[in-house]
Amino acid sequence: MIYQRVALIGLGLIASSMAHAMRAGGLAGEIVGYAQSPETRAVAKELFCDRVTASAAEAVQGADLVVLAVPVGAMGAIAAEIGPHLKPGATVTDVGSVKQAVVDAVAPHLPEGVHFIPGHPMAGTEYSGPRSGFATLYQNRWWLLTPPEGCDPKALARLRSLIEGMGAKVDLLEVGHHDLVVAVVSHVPHAIAYTMVGVADHMRRVSQSEVIKYSAAGFRDFTRIAASDPTMWRDVFLTNKDAVLDILGRFAEELFVLQRAIRMGDGEHLHAYFTRTREIRRGIIEAGQDTAAPDFGRVAPAPKGG
Ligand code: NAP
Repeated sequence: MIYQRVALIGLGLIASSMAHAMRAGGLAGEIVGYAQSPETRAVAKELFCDRVTASAAEAVQGADLVVLAVPVGAMGAIAAEIGPHLKPGATVTDVGSVKQAVVDAVAPHLPEGVHFIPGHPMAGTEYSGPRSGFATLYQNRWWLLTPPEGCDPKALARLRSLIEGMGAKVDLLEVGHHDLVVAVVSHVPHAIAYTMVGVADHMRRVSQSEVIKYSAAGFRDFTRIAASDPTMWRDVFLTNKDAVLDILGRFAEELFVLQRAIRMGDGEHLHAYFTRTREIRRGIIEAGQDTAAPDFGRVAPAPKGG
């Protein structure tokens, strides 16, 4: 056991997966939970929490580790509420997809003697809520931590063993660098998927149901990403504004170059460009971050009729 008592604030996909993984690995003595709605708390009590409470302040009392697993925009208010109730020596971490905004919102509310180690599991699905979690979500995935200068090494090592106990690999990053990297690997790809599905939605009105009917792998993968939780993603774009706008600007420039190559019939350019991008995909597979199976390992649907 790594922590005697863990308090999860927010009980959706990320927190419920943590709870399942902690239970499977015997990593926590007691898991206490709080979420805003009584429905979510009831599901959490049934599926993965030893105890749920009617307030965040109550949930963190006596906890050795507190995990903030609410949308990024809700973190500040939660921190203000729990600050006075934290146990001296406790560790507070979060799982927010953006780090600078969380540090700015949370750190001022935490008392001396509490260790704040912001974090971000690089794992997720398009599902949300307390029923969507599963114990293997973090298996072999990266979990980024952005410890502040002067962070207590013992508190950091303990949090690290919990995360590794859930199957993830830990890397340490500086806060601003984190926000730029995730803008490239996660936030802007989501923006593009939302936009492409928006374009197809508009087209659908023109071409009736053809967009859905012939939906092939490329577009289908965009629709999966674009099905992600609207509250979470609203907060991500509002709080990682600078990095997202920087990368979107670069994206637009690349798109113009591609558009020009297509217009000019510059096949050489297109071929060289796609050869480079294929190498990147190969690198991701070699790094164990995705499967090499065709169509992401999807099982083909059984033929209809007959
Ligand atoms: P989720 O499944 O939508 O769950 C969010 C949870 O937060 C719910 O239990 C919700 O409670 C609770 N909540 C929302 N506002 C609250 C408030 N003001 N006070 C108390 N509880 C509140 O979300 P998630 O996917 O687990 O995401 C949680 C965090 O992880 C976010 O910060 C997100 O950026 C980050 N993250 C997500 C992913 C991903 O792919 N999903 C990946 C990495 C990091 P109710 O159910 O009662 O509304």
